[in-house]
Amino acid sequence: MMVPVRCFTCGKVVGEHWEEFKTRTREGDDDPEQVLDELGVERHCCRRMLVSHKDLVDVVAPYQ
Ligand SMILES: [Zn+2]
Repeated sequence: MMVPVRCFTCGKVVGEHWEEFKTRTREGDDDPEQVLDELGVERHCCRRMLVSHKDLVDVVAPYQ
């Protein structure tokens, strides 16, 4: 499942951050909020794209 390349609301490119966000948060060592800060994803509309995508993958994955 692909993460959307751009934020639906403001058009900022967020897809390029997905792999790093996924890797760092999966290990549980990093707080997703802090990871997004470091990646430069500052707007709430953009952060939602990555955070909600993670949640969706967790919900859908068992059925694949
Ligand atoms: Zn945005």
